[in-house]
Order: sequence, then C-alpha cells, then structure tokens
Amino acid sequence: MQDQDTTAIKCRECGAPSYFDQKLEGFICPYCGSFTPWASADYRYTLDMIFRHRPIPLVDGLIKLTHVGVGETAVKDMRSPDEMKQRTSSLDDLLQGFDQGTFEKWDIREEKSFDCPYCGAQITGFSTQSIFECPYCGNKVMLSELFESGEYGENLVYGYDPDMYDLALPFIITKEQAIQQMLRLVAENRSDFTEQDIEKRIRSELQAIYLPYWVEDISVKATVDTERGRFTFYQDRINWARPQNSLFDIYLLNELNPWDYGEAAPFTPAFLENDARIFAPMNNDERVTAPYRMLYRDIPDMLKTVYGLEEVKLLGWV
Ligand SMILES: [Zn+2]
Ligand SMILES: [Zn+2]
Repeated sequence: MQDQDTTAIKCRECGAPSYFDQKLEGFICPYCGSFTPWASADYRYTLDMIFRHRPIPLVDGLIKLTHVGVGETAVKDMRSPDEMKQRTSSLDDLLQGFDQGTFEKWDIREEKSFDCPYCGAQITGFSTQSIFECPYCGNKVMLSELFESGEYGENLVYGYDPDMYDLALPFIITKEQAIQQMLRLVAENRSDFTEQDIEKRIRSELQAIYLPYWVEDISVKATVDTERGRFTFYQDRINWARPQNSLFDIYLLNELNPWDYGEAAPFTPAFLENDARIFAPMNNDERVTAPYRMLYRDIPDMLKTVYGLEEVKLLGWV
C-alpha cells in the first residue's frame, strides 16, 4: 500500500477532517458543518424503505380473512440438520465452509501502514479495510481509486450477490462497549456458559458483521392443542426482520427483533468505516424454510406468555 495513492477526507471549506455520513450520502465537516456529496454518481439511494404490508379489509366492523381461507396443513418440525453445528462451531469454521475465497482473504489479511498524506504520521489498519484514520491528525484516509469509483474490492463480501442490500442499521456502540455488555451478560448468567474461557473469547474473537435481512409481514392461522383445549388463532406479524443468511443461528437472531428501522441509512460497502465483515444474502433451501422453522419455535412460547398456558402444541397452520 506504500506506493498507492490515498485521499484524505478533508473539509474543502475549513480543512478539518471530515466524516462519512451514510444517511446524507457524503462527507460532513464537524467543525464548520459544510457537506460534500460522495464523488461517485453511480450510487443512488432512496430512503423510502419498502414494507410489504397487506391491508386487511374490514366488513361491518369485522376483519375479513379470506386470504387465510385455505385448508390447514399438518405442522412439521423442520429442524435444520446443521442447527447444532451453527450454534457451536467457531465462526471461522463456518466462514471457511461458506466462502473459502473470502475467508482466505480475511485470514491472510495484512496489517498495513503508510504515511498520512497530511501530517506524515504513520497510519495502520488492515488490508481489508476501506477507510483508515490517522491517529495523530485525525484525518480519515482512503485509497484514491476507491474514493473515486466507489467500487468495493472483490472477495471482501462473504457469499455472492450482485444485488447487495443498500440500507443498513449503523452500529451505535463501540467494540469496547459491546465487549463490556457481553461480559456483563456472562457474569449475570454464568451457568449458561459452560466454557471456562468464555470471557477470554469475548475479548479476542468478537467480530463486527453486517448481515442481510428481509423486513416483511407474515400472516399465520394455526390450530393448537393446549391444556385448556384446542383453539385456532390468527396473527399478523408486522415488520418482521428475518435473517437472509442461514450460516448463523436464526433462532438467536430472531430474538433480536424488533429493530428500529427509523435508523436505517444508505449502505455502501466501499465507504464502510472500521473493521467489519459484510455478508451477502444466501439463496438456498434453508432460507426458504427459515420462517416456518422460526414460527414453529416461537409461536408456542408466544401463546404461553400471552395466555398463561403451560402446554401448547401446534397441530396445523396456513
Ligand atoms: Zn469545515
Ligand atoms: Zn495525519
């Protein structure tokens, strides 16, 4: 990287270091407030998140549910054969099996250093990073080529997807804050973590990742057997965020709902700050069966909580 051209992101008005603002699609100066849009004209985003809501008609004050009028089918527990593997394997093992090329790229990534174009101090970072920060003058620097083209390097995204998602929820806590929260969680629930070295692993193995999600509505009509009898219920699940990558434990990811979609901002891999791995959506059978597997798992718990039931067994659903 020594010989490559770099560009410091500096305010054109006052010369202060400027910052990436994904939401505004440009660089903003924290000192004088002036704003410079990203150079690349190829990146056009809309902030209008498209939700797939289907309005439910009301007839004489009653909800009309014709769209769930089909006969129920018996419920199967579509457990993924890889479930335990997903939960207990190391992330590195999963990544290697998923996308070897990208895994290797990250595995052999090098720590890079070059001179700050402004103050001459040494800037260090990883070869997989787009943006570097000078520890001395605070300027943010990226390769000129990347700055101008907005194109992201090959093999930096896990998986393959030409239709990369263009909205993301930005990180709102630092890596250190995440580590502290996880350590606190472990301390409060020590018996849930059988591994002796979990504290050490939290400190050394924590990785920042961007995962693809779909936000959608789903309508479920299902019949359940309970200790208080058999009944049929209907649920509209609105703005349900479902992971589109089956490499991870979808049940745990599901627990993270609901998200604050108001925070969603345009996402451009090339202008991503910090050391974060990016995942493309996966197109496989796992992804198709995922909503049913999650519903199978969370509907009984939901009914138990809401109606104070002890036993809930799903019989059929639409
Ligand atoms: Zn300025
Ligand atoms: Zn500098």
